[in-house]
Amino acid sequence: MLGLMTDKPLLISSLIEYAAKYHGETEIVSCNTNGSIDRSNYKKVNTRCKKLAQSLLKMGVKKGDTIGTMAWSNVRHYELYYGVSGIGAICHTINPRLFPEQISFIANDANDKYLFLDAEFLPLVENLSKTLVNVKKFIIMCSKDEMPSSKIIDDLICYEEMIEIESDDFSWPDFDEKTASSLCYTSGTTGNPKGVLYAHRSTVIHSMAAAAADAMCISARDVIMPVAPMFHANGWGIPYAATMAGAKLVLPGRNLDGESVQSLIENEQVTFTAAVPTIWLMLFEYLEKTGKKLESLNRCVIGGSACPRFMMEKFYEKYGVDVIHCWGMTETSPIGTINRPLSKHDTTDFTKKFDLAVKQGRPVYGVELKITDDNGIVLPNDGKSFGNLWIRGPWICSGYLNIKNSETHGDDDWFLTGDVATLDSDGYMQITDRTKDVIKSGGEWISSIEIENFAAGHPAIKEAAVIGIFHPKWDERPLLILVKNENSEVTEEEIFAFLKDKIASWWMPNAIEFIDALPHTATGKIQKLELREKFKDYKFEDI
Ligand code: ADP
Repeated sequence: MLGLMTDKPLLISSLIEYAAKYHGETEIVSCNTNGSIDRSNYKKVNTRCKKLAQSLLKMGVKKGDTIGTMAWSNVRHYELYYGVSGIGAICHTINPRLFPEQISFIANDANDKYLFLDAEFLPLVENLSKTLVNVKKFIIMCSKDEMPSSKIIDDLICYEEMIEIESDDFSWPDFDEKTASSLCYTSGTTGNPKGVLYAHRSTVIHSMAAAAADAMCISARDVIMPVAPMFHANGWGIPYAATMAGAKLVLPGRNLDGESVQSLIENEQVTFTAAVPTIWLMLFEYLEKTGKKLESLNRCVIGGSACPRFMMEKFYEKYGVDVIHCWGMTETSPIGTINRPLSKHDTTDFTKKFDLAVKQGRPVYGVELKITDDNGIVLPNDGKSFGNLWIRGPWICSGYLNIKNSETHGDDDWFLTGDVATLDSDGYMQITDRTKDVIKSGGEWISSIEIENFAAGHPAIKEAAVIGIFHPKWDERPLLILVKNENSEVTEEEIFAFLKDKIASWWMPNAIEFIDALPHTATGKIQKLELREKFKDYKFEDI
């Protein structure tokens, strides 16, 4: 049609090409496992991505081929994001913390043709190499002098040697924006992990939505450190959104302990970061021990699990950091909702501020939400009715790789999240539980997340988890499982007294158990399945 806009495809390569052209000198900082730091910039890294692309083409990689990565957040991993997707191949980021048999399963399910790995994962991959039937070659992401040898895998390839011989002169190819670009697996706490395939189009528009002012509000003036690993839902999309904005990017590598994270924030003047709550618990512990601050940091995205209220309060009141609470899933690229106040919420009343902030937030542009009862009837957005949460939009998966007729994909592109939530009249969503963690007591439902959040706010408590335990009268009653802070003492009675005015009396856990540590999933979330297994024979004393 005459006069209509061009239909230039939205390709991932356009993000780095833009950053190289208009923010070429802006730094990309990358931490190695040994603590050393590499500094580069968008211009140089774009050239290295192009060299990588040419190596892949020479190796026979074709559009639609899947390339596995097993790496921490570092600049070579970032180059794979762009180099692999940039030629129409699929960058499959594998979580190295998964069980070995799950890693084999997903590498085979994805049909990975090559596997790029950080040198430290070589022993793990050697053990699995016989089971990785489709992998033709293994490429170690290191320089020539760091190259390890292997008695088990022949012909290991050195990443730096491989790309150095390629030319700087390469133009990213154009192709259909609906081409698959990357692949992540859900962590599969029940059954095998499931593959979620992203497209160039979905990734680029997700980046635009993520960077918007009422979302993560990402700008070229930010220094962005995604602590959420690059193998967890594409580092929450931040390595793309930060590139699109031309922000300085800090890739923290393997060491995510409090000291490493604080020193990177201070040394690199990080303004924006993102991770699951567990990471921030470690950071707080370190800050409290040392009295250090987070001077440069102004916002921190927290998601992956519910952000406890005390964490938001502490970040804001003690360190001057605004927490942006975010909800999403591997299946949602990952942003579904982000909690940003509307102008009517402007207040100096901190209680009100944090009452709102504990919710998981409103849908960003592009996303629609609804809640239904178990018969599929849509429930009202009254902030009280809770039901199964559904989502749809252009960066929400339409199915799983190699799985026909997934039960979680309904009509009209709606995806059933497996979360139970409320929606209020302004569109703020609050997760009350994962469907499989819901506690039903006498037919009424109790939110484990809400009890956990209050309990974790006690100064002597490091982490809290609530699970349902069989009860002959009520079917299930909550058991509160707590981990104390180092050198802290607290009694059951003190915790009960602390919770008394905070939760409804019938939500009060029937018992409290103190343990040394909670089990976590490969993405740093509390593993309720394992806790339920551990406490499967537990009996309340009152029965
Ligand atoms: P995995 O199960 O592999 O860890 P995801 O990271 O995709 O995979 O997990 C998504 C789930 O994490 C959501 O369905 C939800 O249960 C939980 N989640 C994510 N963000 C939040 C949040 N802000 N509050 C509560 N739960 C959350």
